[in-house]
Amino acid sequence: MEKIPMKTPLVEMDGDEMTRIIWKMIKDILLIPYVDLKTEYYDLGLEYRNKTNDQVTFDSAEATKKYGVAVKCATITPNAARMTEYDLKEMWKSPNGTIRAILDGTVFRTPIIVKGITPYIPTWTKPITIARHAYGDVYKNTEMQVAEGSKCELVCTNKDGSETRQLIHDFEGTDGIIQGLHNTDKSISSFARSCFNFALDTKQDLWFATKDTISKKYDHRFKDIFAEIFEAEYKEKFEAAGIEYFYTLIDDAVARVVRSQGGYIWACKNYDGDVMSDMVATAYGSLAMMTSVLVSPDGVYEYEAAHGTVQRHYYKYLKGETTSTNSVATIFAWTGALRKRGELDGLGELSAFADKLEKATILTIEEGVMTGDLYLLSELENKQKVDTETFLREVAVRLEKLL
Ligand code: NAP
Ligand code: MG
Repeated sequence: MEKIPMKTPLVEMDGDEMTRIIWKMIKDILLIPYVDLKTEYYDLGLEYRNKTNDQVTFDSAEATKKYGVAVKCATITPNAARMTEYDLKEMWKSPNGTIRAILDGTVFRTPIIVKGITPYIPTWTKPITIARHAYGDVYKNTEMQVAEGSKCELVCTNKDGSETRQLIHDFEGTDGIIQGLHNTDKSISSFARSCFNFALDTKQDLWFATKDTISKKYDHRFKDIFAEIFEAEYKEKFEAAGIEYFYTLIDDAVARVVRSQGGYIWACKNYDGDVMSDMVATAYGSLAMMTSVLVSPDGVYEYEAAHGTVQRHYYKYLKGETTSTNSVATIFAWTGALRKRGELDGLGELSAFADKLEKATILTIEEGVMTGDLYLLSELENKQKVDTETFLREVAVRLEKLL
């Protein structure tokens, strides 16, 4: 069989621990035999990040800007324990944070749905994709504990030196707490454009919600920016694509989400996205079945699995024990990137390969062959737990039949 050709390379960001092992297995078993794989390789494994003083992370993000599509393996975010374990020169920042800051992107997380694993909300038959605004609000706050008798004001020193003041609270008879939050029109606009673009890309409705009735300036600004950008730049494109932009209050949104069937993108402010993405992921069954894509407002894509490096399984692997680690989200990171590359380069065959690989992966699980995490959840009667590598080989068997 002739291998499927590629034109532009994918930016390949390798990673750490068990996912690094899975990364190589996926390439060897499911990609290289079928695709003339072209990648520009960056080793974001912690050892090499440390060796290059994290320069490799910055370089990989710049390469992503240049080529437009990247696929990333899970990576360790160093903490005190990792400082000793890897003898690090510094506690390097989270690669995801660095890449997100350089691409100015929004992260979209989507569950992979398979028969036999019913979400905790059984009406959710289609995926709900959560887009979290990853800048500002309570994550970049300034806060104080204040003593009884304090008068707290919001003071803005304007460009011309004049001051605008507003009372927050007079603390009479009790101590208390205050908090200063901010966001920027620039960041909110980028977030809005990433969401509108991704909705068009995936032909799904976009929902957005804030508490603008209570927060008449702060949350209302989010609502207004979304509305202005939609009217000016996306309304006609949405009509042509047959999709909708829907704005509502956050509490109404939560109620509608629970009653819905799924099949849309839910854009969330930073805190809402933090909370709701964990709720949605849990309700769909497994973090190991969650994919994640970082989309920049100018249309650059970085695909990855939502889970981490699965450290506990890696230590078993190092001891020579068999592991049963779920590779599905990492496979879907590759298929997402290959499909996008195919679309951008006009390589229909490459995009079709990505579709078939996803189909083969889902089919494998639906025919009862799965890793331990899914084995615990699946309601299938003929289910069978397999190890990490066997699962990939079973996918390959089904993929060959589809090619
Ligand atoms: P984790 O790697 O997501 O794993 C937590 C637990 O979830 C695992 O021990 C395992 O449970 C289960 N799990 C997650 N993915 C699985 C999979 N593919 N197959 C089977 N089970 C899976 O999170 P963590 O242990 O908190 O973090 C480990 C490292 O990953 C940390 O250094 C962290 O910095 C990094 N991390 C990276 C990213 C990223 O690069 N995007 C994201 C999150 C965390 P059992 O042990 O019960 O089987
Ligand atoms: Mg969270």
